[in-house]
Amino acid sequence: MNHLRVNKDRLWQSLMTMAKIGATEKGGCKRLAATALDGQARDLFVKWCKDEGCTISVDKMGNIFARRAGDNNDLPAVVTGSHLDTQPTGGRFDGVFGVLAGLEVLRTLNENKVATNAPFEFTVWTNEEGSRFQPAMQGSGVYVGRFDLETELNKTDVDGLVLRDELAKIGYLGNEEPGSRNIGAFFETHIEQGPILEDEDKMIGVVRLGQGIRWYDISVTGRESHAGSTPMHLRFDALLAASNIVTEINNIAHNNPPNGLGTVGFMDVYPNSRNTIPGSVKFSADLRNPDPEVLAKMDKELQGYCQQLGQKHNLDIDVDHFWYFAPVEFNASDNVKIAAEKMGYSHMDIFAGAGHDACYMADIVPSGMVFTPCKDGISHAEIEDTTAEQCEAGCNVLMHAMLEASNKMQMNS
Ligand SMILES: [Zn+2]
Repeated sequence: MNHLRVNKDRLWQSLMTMAKIGATEKGGCKRLAATALDGQARDLFVKWCKDEGCTISVDKMGNIFARRAGDNNDLPAVVTGSHLDTQPTGGRFDGVFGVLAGLEVLRTLNENKVATNAPFEFTVWTNEEGSRFQPAMQGSGVYVGRFDLETELNKTDVDGLVLRDELAKIGYLGNEEPGSRNIGAFFETHIEQGPILEDEDKMIGVVRLGQGIRWYDISVTGRESHAGSTPMHLRFDALLAASNIVTEINNIAHNNPPNGLGTVGFMDVYPNSRNTIPGSVKFSADLRNPDPEVLAKMDKELQGYCQQLGQKHNLDIDVDHFWYFAPVEFNASDNVKIAAEKMGYSHMDIFAGAGHDACYMADIVPSGMVFTPCKDGISHAEIEDTTAEQCEAGCNVLMHAMLEASNKMQMNS
């Protein structure tokens, strides 16, 4: 089966056909979760899979599973997929590539009459982007049990429309219980959404880890007073302290190379007046690292710095660490590496900077991700771009990783 290759032009064609649904003037895609356009995209995927003889199931969260029978249908399925929803100013590849790479694997297996030991399934997860309904990775999160089904179905968008009704409207409120399928391994192909593969001139990223994230709301309370009549040594300037913390977050990231990241992206200054020393400042902080120990160290450094700073300047600094996303280990990444080597593609180990459905699937089954380069590392933008050759490479690696996993499953059974 080593000679088996996907059809580059057919894969590209299906990507471009799908990109017409919700196409924007600037060449991107706007296909928000559970909208009519999302429905059209799902219908097209389902039609393509039915044309290939698949059986379709939809669960109560709207996740779609297209099943291709194996020789031994008691074996757990080897599954691949991603998402069809996009950001409001999204591109043509984020998520969609992972779904249609699966479709191309399906078509290639059928065309070459390849029988697999385990059944193969091709899936579409509901609302990965977290744009219209929060949180992100909602469908896969419910599937693995991180989120409660009823809570998520009752979520509303900015217009007050309820996810459950919106899924029903487009015909994708299914009746299968999320989490009930017999799955043995999960793979997801995705554009990298970063510049590393392009920079290192590698075709394939073997994703070993999904990085951990720590989110904070920090508030600094000082005292408002007149900017003209308060001497410098008698001030309790909340913004000055906040700016020290912003700088320190940057230092913490730099001091934990090579993968430390730190960002302050939101700040609210009170009373935000030219003539008044700021009395309170609230801001966000975001620390990331693929290594849980390093991330814990970064957390300690931030907490310690804030405590010291508050004492030194007699300010009340509250650090609310409200969310921790533990780093993810992709236990099926060896299958991806073996496949990349078999195909002769240049490859490197890499970690996932963004969240993906596979990060949640890794909770319950051995999972692997295949990254391919994207132009200038840009994603979540209408100019997001990649080439047919890069898509072909990712798809070939996906197919052989799935076949490898299927073979192993037979041996283990
Ligand atoms: Zn994505």
